[in-house]
This record gives sequence, structure tokens and C-alpha cells, in this order.
Amino acid sequence: MEKTIKQDEIVNFLKKYGFVFPCSEIYNGLANAWDYGPLGVLLKNNLKSLWWKYFITSKANMVGLDSAIFLNPNVWKASGHIESFSDPLIDCKHCKKRFRADKIINDQVKNAKINENSSLESLQKIIKENHIKCPNCQHEDWTEIRKFNLMFQTNQSIVKDKENTLYLRPETAQGIFINFNNIQRTSSLKLPFGVGQIGKSFRNEITPGNFIFRTREFEQMEIEFFCFPQQAAEFFNFFLNEINFFLLKKLKLNKEKIKTYEHPKNDLSHYAKRTIDFQYRFPHGWSELWGLSNRTDYDLLNHQKNSGKNLMYLDQKNGKKIIPYVIEPSVGVERLLYAIICDTFTYQKIKDNDYREVLCLSYELCPYKVAVLPLSVSLINDAKEIYQQILNANISATFATSGSIGKRYRKQDAIGTYYCLTIDFETANDQCVTVRHRDTMRQKRIKISEINNFLSKKMINE
Ligand code: ATP
Repeated sequence: MEKTIKQDEIVNFLKKYGFVFPCSEIYNGLANAWDYGPLGVLLKNNLKSLWWKYFITSKANMVGLDSAIFLNPNVWKASGHIESFSDPLIDCKHCKKRFRADKIINDQVKNAKINENSSLESLQKIIKENHIKCPNCQHEDWTEIRKFNLMFQTNQSIVKDKENTLYLRPETAQGIFINFNNIQRTSSLKLPFGVGQIGKSFRNEITPGNFIFRTREFEQMEIEFFCFPQQAAEFFNFFLNEINFFLLKKLKLNKEKIKTYEHPKNDLSHYAKRTIDFQYRFPHGWSELWGLSNRTDYDLLNHQKNSGKNLMYLDQKNGKKIIPYVIEPSVGVERLLYAIICDTFTYQKIKDNDYREVLCLSYELCPYKVAVLPLSVSLINDAKEIYQQILNANISATFATSGSIGKRYRKQDAIGTYYCLTIDFETANDQCVTVRHRDTMRQKRIKISEINNFLSKKMINE
């Protein structure tokens, strides 16, 4: 029987084992910012590499890009982010706290008919008519609602003026659009083709929180898939199936905790014609995990208009020039990581009053595939040789000597290590070690000379 896990338990667990640390902890932290520790960075890298392999390198018409974080500010003018990438904010005059107007309406008014495109006037009217009170001090004393742009600004060079304003990118996508010609020219790709990118994005979120679910600095894994306009519906469905397959079959997430939500037509981002979100049931409730949008020709068309450069695609079959449509699957690395942890972290009952923490990660995601455990101090040197043999094969492994073997197994189970290899007093005689499987806890003996092969095969078969 497994217990339902709360957000706090997950955060404490991840801090305890070194997956995450509160950012700037020795200076009392920085709210809603997290650092990734030795295990967190391994897990995060494994996730990014799994996504990259599945969506980019194993597909014939996909390539990658790593564009800059700072782009020419005109990019954000053309993309509509300077004008439209904003939240409606309202301040309580009494306690001086600031809120997202749409959020307090949704929290306090049942069936409020508002969406991303609701005007500031209509939001203000709902707040007034429903006598919405400040969630902090319960007073009804509001300022006017105003738009707050979510892009972080900074300045290049030492002069702080409008001319020198730069924005930290709020999505990686624009780096791909502005390189459309370069990529096409250098890789000779023909439509349909896609460009993937993994990188940091920044949003000055008004209500960050729920651990790593919503932070101001995060990583995105995005694909901009370019196709003929008449193929957009087909590739939208293609990626709908691909994301579903990746979540359920590659990451093996629980089907019951995943559902899709289609945005109604009046609740689409300024660039989108159709959007479906994959939602996950996080400890704080159902929330967006992965977005899939048909961005049409919006971005390329606007960059063509604003840059004055031709971004058309020449269809060599009929000599016609078109602006391709774009299908965009976009997911946050940390948000996906959080869903994986929520899904795989369990307290498993072994016998009465005996529970073990287990992170049932798939083999490819495990920070360590294997832990090498000498049963006694006198076996450390022999065990180290085996450990080095595994590291030489580029297999992620750890080595642990302190504590009873039972305690060491428990710790490795908790951090998701797939196998434990125990070196005991028989090892020198039979040249074998005991392999213990994390999930079944079953053990068998294998030859030292077969360890690397055994581990590599597991990787291939995953
Ligand atoms: P939300 O509605 O949760 O703010 P969004 O619709 O603004 O998300 P998109 O712009 O579609 O998000 O971004 C694509 C993906 O990037 C999201 O599905 C999510 O996984 C991730 N993401 C977006 N904002 C954040 C954030 N502040 N922190 C962590 N991940 C984020």
C-alpha cells in the first residue's frame, strides 16, 4: 500500500539526498529559485538527453540549434512579446500586496468567464461587481489594473537608456525563427522539417511557486516544426501522439495522472491558432505540463515584415514561394522533472512498520545505473577495481562504503540507483558479485567480466 505524497515531502526528500538545494541558501535563499545538486544534475541531463535522442537525433528531418539568450530587441517587437507578453496586475492599497487580477477572480468568482484575452476593463468590472477582497488583508481597496510585461530587462554597455535595453528571452522559439534561413541554407532541409532547442528561458512570473513547477528562470525543450500550411493539422496530430508516447512509454508516467486540455478559441496566445496542453496531476492539482501549438505563419511572417529579409520557402516542385506553418511542442525541463519525481517517488511497505523510499526511475533516467558496495573494509580495493572498470565503460556509477549493507541498499533505492553490486568474501574465489535489482530487490550472482556487458545491454533494451 503506497501513501499519497505531498509537495513538502518531495521537496524535503530531494533536498535530503542532494537533488536540489534552495538557491543562495547561505544568504537565506532567493524565493522560488533552486540549484540542482550532484544527483539533480545527473537526472536533469539524462532527461534532456532522452528528449534530444527521441525527438531530434532519431528522426530524419530534425536538427538542433543553440541560439543566444540575448537577441536583438527588434525580435521581441516582431514576435509580439513587447506588446502582448504580459499579465494583468492589481495592487491592494491597504496592505500594498500585488496580485494577478485574473488569478484572484478565478479564485474568488465561481465560473468567471475570463481568459488570456479579457480586457483590463472587463477584469476591473468583475472585481468591483463581485466585491473581491484582498486575499492577504481582506480589504476591498484596489488600484487600477495594469499590464505587466513578463520579460526581464537589462542593459548592454554602461549607459542605461531605451536604446540599450535587452531582454532575457522568455522562450527559446524565437532563436529558431530568426535562424530559419541559415538552417535551411546550411542543412538543405526540405519541408517538412523541425528544429529543436534546449535552453534557459526567463519570465518575471507574478506568482511563481509550487516548488520547481513555476520559477522565473527555467529550461525549455522546444521544437519548431516547419511544414506546408495544408500539412499543419496532420503534424499537430503527429506531435500529439509523439508527446503522448514519450510521456507514457519512454518516461513511463502514470496514465491516470495525464490528460489533455484544448484551449477554447477565445483563450489562445496571440500567435496560436490551436493549442492543446498535456496536463499532469501535480500535488497542487492538475496543471500544464507540455504545450502543443499551431503557431501558423505568425512568427516568420512578422520577422519577414520587421527585418525586411525574405523568409519565404521555395517549393522546388512547383517554383512557388510560401511562408511555412509551424507546429510547436514546448515543455519545461524542470516541470517535466517534477512530474517524473512525483510519479516515481514512493514509500513502499516491505513489512509491518518497515517502509523504504524508492525512486522507481527508468534505467535511462537513473542518476546512477549501479552502486558498487564492498561488504567489508578489507574488500575496498577489490571493489574499487570493479568500480573503475564500470566507469571506464562510461556507465554512471557510485561507490559506497559506510553503513550496514542494508542501509546502503536503502539509500541507493531512494536515489533511484537501478542495481547494487555487492563485493563479498566469495568474490575473490569465484570472480562473481551479487547484483541486486532496485524494484524487485531480487539478487543473483554474475561474473565480474560480464558486468559491463550486463549494464550496457540493459541500456540498449530500455
Ligand atoms: P503557464 O500557463 O503554466 O504559465 P504557459 O502556457 O505560459 O505556462 P508556455 O509559454 O506554453 O507556457 O511554455 C511552454 C512550457 O514551458 C510550459 O508547458 C511549461 O512546461 C514550461 N514553462 C513555462 N513557464 C514556466 C515557468 N515559469 N517555470 C517552469 N516552466 C515553465
